[in-house]
Amino acid sequence: MHHFQYRGNELYAEEVAVKDIVAKAGTPVYIYSHATLERHFRAMDDAFAAVPHTICYSMKANSNLAVLKTFANLGGGVDIVSGGELYRALKAGIDPKKIVYSGVGKKDDEIEYALKAGILMFNVESEEELDRINEIAGSLGTKAGIAIRVNPDVDPETHPYITTGLKKAKFGINIERSLDQYKRAAAMPHIEVIGIDCHIGSQLTKISPFVDTIRKLKRLIAGLEEAGIRLTYFDLGGGLGITYDEEAPPLPAEYGRAIVEETRDMGLHLIFEPGRNLVGNAGIMVGKCLYTKKGEEKNFVIVDAAMNDLARPSLYGSFHGVQAVCKDQDGSIVADIVGPICESGDFLAKDREMPRFRGGDLVAFMSAGAYGFAMSSNYNSRPRAAEVMVKGDTFTIIRERENRDDLIKGENIPDFLQK
Ligand SMILES: *Cc1c(COP(=O)(O)O)cnc(C)c1O
Repeated sequence: MHHFQYRGNELYAEEVAVKDIVAKAGTPVYIYSHATLERHFRAMDDAFAAVPHTICYSMKANSNLAVLKTFANLGGGVDIVSGGELYRALKAGIDPKKIVYSGVGKKDDEIEYALKAGILMFNVESEEELDRINEIAGSLGTKAGIAIRVNPDVDPETHPYITTGLKKAKFGINIERSLDQYKRAAAMPHIEVIGIDCHIGSQLTKISPFVDTIRKLKRLIAGLEEAGIRLTYFDLGGGLGITYDEEAPPLPAEYGRAIVEETRDMGLHLIFEPGRNLVGNAGIMVGKCLYTKKGEEKNFVIVDAAMNDLARPSLYGSFHGVQAVCKDQDGSIVADIVGPICESGDFLAKDREMPRFRGGDLVAFMSAGAYGFAMSSNYNSRPRAAEVMVKGDTFTIIRERENRDDLIKGENIPDFLQK
């Protein structure tokens, strides 16, 4: 069941009218459905019920503490990409033994923090990083669990900005060089080789690139075994897509079946790093129409949400469904929905047929739970939006709207400028 539905003309989030949330939290606001988060987590978890596995939610998609705690309560771990994310994960009560650490630019202090926290493993993305982790683990008198993030050179057939597993990408270690790096790692005194990792891209709508990747990695794993290197974990990354518009990605159950079939004989503990799939359709963003305007060639609906709140349309030309929070408009128009930011790239929808919104109407942007708030900024000195979690007939503000003092936090005017 979908948890953002109309009752009569009114859009609801679970059992709560969206307009009642806005009355308390204002706009722009992100609204997440707790039931949807749980359902998506369970769908992924159940898809691998037949084999040992851990779902390590890729928290860069949405790192609010309440979202993390929702998954922690269901036994989830996380995939982190910074020390800041580790801090959030620990605050939310994620078990450190279910934390994997990806990213091409891990800094010394972040590696140290992760070692002290006792995370499961580092997904190593370069030869130099491997040396650095060995050194830092040595200085702390400990051993670092690692996997090598292998770049399998597989095309995920998605947007170029979210393609990560091709040779030209900055991510991972080329599959041809990985065996040598594993041998080097196995000989390091402060490294414990425990896994293999890959992540080929985001918003995949086909299973075949995942299967191609597994087949390539299996050949590498066979080579590792010949070299006496035995692994425990096989981390398949994230990337399973969702429906924003007309896409029809495989369901988690189908994805699970295909992967279990390919990996069953290997006897490895599987790790998954889904981000978008768990949170994307569990959230919406709601803004308010300020003005409408008829340009020379186009109609514009100007709302109080902008590219600083939801960057995906500006960044990737992404599609977010547009719906009226109260369906009482008179007919429809074709228009662009734009925000107040002084950039022509500041749009949330383009050339879209939509209800004939008027000043004061609330506009919902669908499928905004992933890479929505998490990518937001203060550009144009706009305080970041509030975030709300709905559960049944109740809701909680899980992040206060920023205020003007938040905007200048940490700034100083030097003495030489004082008059
Ligand atoms: C972003 C990312 C993910 C999650 O990608 P989704 O498409 O949101 O599932 C998983 N693993 C790594 C290493 C990532 O960078």
